[in-house]
Amino acid sequence: MRLSRYFLPVTKETPADAQIVSHKLMLRAGLVRQTAAGIYAWLPLGLRVLKKIEQIVREEQDKAGAVELLMPTIQSADLWRQSGRYDAYGPEMLRLVDRHEREMLYGPTNEEMITTIFRDATKSYRDLPRTLYHIQWKFRDEVRPRFGVMRGREFLMKDAYSFDLDEEGLKQSYEAMFVAYLRTFARLGLQAVPVRAPTGPIGGDLSHEFHILAETGESQLFYDAAIDDVTREELLAADASTIARLTRLYAMEAEEHEKVAECPVPAERLRSRRGIEVGHIFAFGTKYSASMGFSIQTADGGQVHPQMGSYGIGVSRLMGAIIEASHDDNGIVWPDSVAPFQVGLINMRADDAACSAAADNIYKQLETAGVETLYDDRDERGGAKFATMDVIGLPWQLVIGPKGLEKGVVELKRRASGEREELSLETALARLT
Ligand code: ATP
Ligand code: MG
Ligand code: MG
Ligand code: MG
Repeated sequence: MRLSRYFLPVTKETPADAQIVSHKLMLRAGLVRQTAAGIYAWLPLGLRVLKKIEQIVREEQDKAGAVELLMPTIQSADLWRQSGRYDAYGPEMLRLVDRHEREMLYGPTNEEMITTIFRDATKSYRDLPRTLYHIQWKFRDEVRPRFGVMRGREFLMKDAYSFDLDEEGLKQSYEAMFVAYLRTFARLGLQAVPVRAPTGPIGGDLSHEFHILAETGESQLFYDAAIDDVTREELLAADASTIARLTRLYAMEAEEHEKVAECPVPAERLRSRRGIEVGHIFAFGTKYSASMGFSIQTADGGQVHPQMGSYGIGVSRLMGAIIEASHDDNGIVWPDSVAPFQVGLINMRADDAACSAAADNIYKQLETAGVETLYDDRDERGGAKFATMDVIGLPWQLVIGPKGLEKGVVELKRRASGEREELSLETALARLT
């Protein structure tokens, strides 16, 4: 992509209400623009990152055996009356009325809808178990939208729903999602702490939240320091034994921690940190299948309400969480896995025909090799180009200037370490392709 043709409105100033670093950097790097309180437009660079996060989430859901579908954002109030949640949900639900005076709502979640869809198409025990998911926009009319996309009103969520014949099946579906979550967050370059969560109004008996450690997190966590010893490699290869190990280790949100009579972790091993909730899984049993009249014939001719679970990931919130976890004074430092482009190619002298011809040629080679490249071909000062590349945080910067070309070298900079190397063009391209 040529920057001269792109839409990348980077800025130096950020509004006063942008308090936390990820919010500031998302605005400065031209990733998003707020269009109303808690509602954001995703600009081209931000959209590329969002799609990458979404794709990693999708791949791990698929690997866990979940099946993707897409449900609408607008739902009918009647659906929610069946479960009894229409009145219970409160002012976080955005309620709408259509021209025929029918009550509608913008979905904050999809338990009712998926239960209906699956119920109406399911005949017998042979149709179970199934886990279905979608990645769709949600709306929650948060009292205080803040921290940019971290607590938006409109936000992108992956929500999965499992249906099993019995509690043992539900436990397996829950564990498969738990594994998928550990792998997903590790692939995103994040250390996520699974925290035993209260089940609250959604009911049921098993629930975990996944938190990214960051000073700006809205939750206060207490956990066993041994959790910090779990390595990224272990999480990438997570399986049932990883879950067994992790869930044995103590981790609670402050409110729950205070209720614990005697903390099982010795004081020197108890960590207190702030966390950002990026995922949440629930096993809630028959709450919706029972209230929405979903029963199924078992192998021995009996009838049961399927055991259900639901599993959310805040896809758009993750972008903020990744930036909180990975930035420096100059800007964002994207993990390779979600970087909007892998390489920022800088032509230091767009007014120099030979330098521009060389840079154009390198750009073509990178494109041909399938390396996602943002090519700064604008006629601007070198300093401004470096600052732009640093703030948008692409993993590599490849700098082409007349002096280097005379010596037959280009400069390659790794954004994360700041390390710069002068290399022959061939060596530099070999590194990047
Ligand atoms: P929170 O405690 O932050 O309000 P929640 O517990 O209400 O979140 P869930 O119902 O568990 O949220 O939804 C699943 C996931 O959706 C959350 O773990 C979070 O990552 C994401 N999410 C929830 N609310 C928002 C929001 N307002 N903006 C962005 N992401 C959100
Ligand atoms: Mg909430
Ligand atoms: Mg929560
Ligand atoms: Mg939650």
